[in-house]
Amino acid sequence: MHRTKVRIVEDALDANNTIARANRDDFDRHDVTVINLMSSPGAGKTSLLERVLADLDGVRPCVLEGDVQGSLDAERLASLHLPVTQLNTAPGFGGECHLDANMVRSALPALPLSEVDLLVIENVGNLVCPAEFRVGEDVRVMVSSVTEGEDKPLKYPLMFRACELVLVNKIDLLPHLLFDLDKFLHHLDHVNPGVERMLVSARTGEGVEAWRDWLVALVARARAGAVR
Ligand code: MG
Repeated sequence: MHRTKVRIVEDALDANNTIARANRDDFDRHDVTVINLMSSPGAGKTSLLERVLADLDGVRPCVLEGDVQGSLDAERLASLHLPVTQLNTAPGFGGECHLDANMVRSALPALPLSEVDLLVIENVGNLVCPAEFRVGEDVRVMVSSVTEGEDKPLKYPLMFRACELVLVNKIDLLPHLLFDLDKFLHHLDHVNPGVERMLVSARTGEGVEAWRDWLVALVARARAGAVR
């Protein structure tokens, strides 16, 4: 009985990876670089996108906005005159707490892939499940805000290990918190040694220039075949 359960999970992940490769082929055909942006709810994914996507040195972005329900974040980003597509996991996908390759695939016909250079997939806010499902992205980026506590890399290692860049957000709040930044970075290096990290504040704009430059450079690296 137990074996059967394990087998089913493995099969589901195999199926997900097959669909993720199909998504990847479609992104490649349109020469689109893709980011899977993940974090807990409220860490600042949307705010950090608002800070940079309106001006990316000629790189043309679009966003696929993943939420269980509603379109509040999509509306915020659409007000920047970006192409934004909402993907809700409820009711069509059972209210799942993450996006998987099949959900992203269902949204591809609604994405203007031939008119953009960069697709940002803002995943559902959750530190566990999104890390388990590839969706066809080039890179995975996560946001960890200092209000969440410095122990999070140790408690959710898969998420911190799965990403190529960690944005440490809300650093403007550090003077008001007991958060020990050195301890957080030590824990981060314990689970993902040397992973690229940036200290940012979506509220004050500190550090967001580096985040913008990283996105522009990512698209250039992907075009040169230097990503993945
Ligand atoms: Mg959001």
